[in-house]
Amino acid sequence: MSKKRTWNKEKPRKLSLVELEEKYGSTDAQIKFFLNIKWPEGFECDFCHCHEYYLIKRTTGIKNNYILECKDCGHQFSLLSGTIFDNSNLTLWQLILAIYLFFVQNKGISAVEMGNLINTSSKTAGKWIRKFRILMAESNNDHLLESKFYDLDILEVGGKRPGGKRGKGADKSPVVIILGTTQDNKYPTFVKLHALMNHKSASIKKWMRKHVKLDKSTVINCDKDTSFNFLKKIVDLHSAKVNYKEKDHKLYWQNVISGNIENNIKTIYHGVSKRDLPLFLAEQEWRFNHRFTGKNIMNKIIKYLRKSKPLRNSAVINVLNLYESKFLKS
Ligand SMILES: [Zn+2]
Repeated sequence: MSKKRTWNKEKPRKLSLVELEEKYGSTDAQIKFFLNIKWPEGFECDFCHCHEYYLIKRTTGIKNNYILECKDCGHQFSLLSGTIFDNSNLTLWQLILAIYLFFVQNKGISAVEMGNLINTSSKTAGKWIRKFRILMAESNNDHLLESKFYDLDILEVGGKRPGGKRGKGADKSPVVIILGTTQDNKYPTFVKLHALMNHKSASIKKWMRKHVKLDKSTVINCDKDTSFNFLKKIVDLHSAKVNYKEKDHKLYWQNVISGNIENNIKTIYHGVSKRDLPLFLAEQEWRFNHRFTGKNIMNKIIKYLRKSKPLRNSAVINVLNLYESKFLKS
């Protein structure tokens, strides 16, 4: 078996549910986790800069209503306000579990499944899935894809008809996939995915210029597709019909990843609507690019959470509507 086919085995072990419980099972540890998001350097009063506080649990019916009261001046600060968890009515442990379940699962998790596991409705779980996907999208956008070799293709991904039915008649959307490899057709590094409004070169070009490092020495392999002809002037474009039955055929890893994405749509999410597609793709991209993140996953996520702002459901819907209107225009 060639080395490139065994890359899966090199993945480090992930944080187990048992370890998560050991680390964050106590209320104290949970409070510390969220305190660390809001005050990375430890608590500091905005008014008198005192570092000491009294912890108060308000019994208002909201399960996570923890207040830090400055020992010096008495000003009160909510543990979760100003963070993405503002306005949530889940317990701290449910929130930590939701983060863990979504970010640590290899293939993702459906709203129904998450709702069952954290003991909330699938509607609430679905809201968190969208918010976490936005965090993943933000993390993806911080990274430029940089490689000497790339595999490039356009996939037809989707779909879900209004009413949730999949299958015949469900309209698929074109998605550009570009995978960096350290050698020609070998050793995949990072991937980028992008939902296209159409197959026109102009939209592919605009997006690639922003997210992928390209120059004359860059080798790009693609299956004969005229949408990529513009690249001839920019890179060393190897455009040839790929025989997918051939052993070690071109675009091998790109094809594996595309197959996994299709499979995740079918088996986990049971279809993805057009408006959810960009965030779904952000999730798939993030998962692949973080496949080697082992046990310190929660520390990585804390960094995303620190950068995040309160995200009301209406704001999430605005993001989705924005994508939808873009698609409808095409
Ligand atoms: Zn104070």
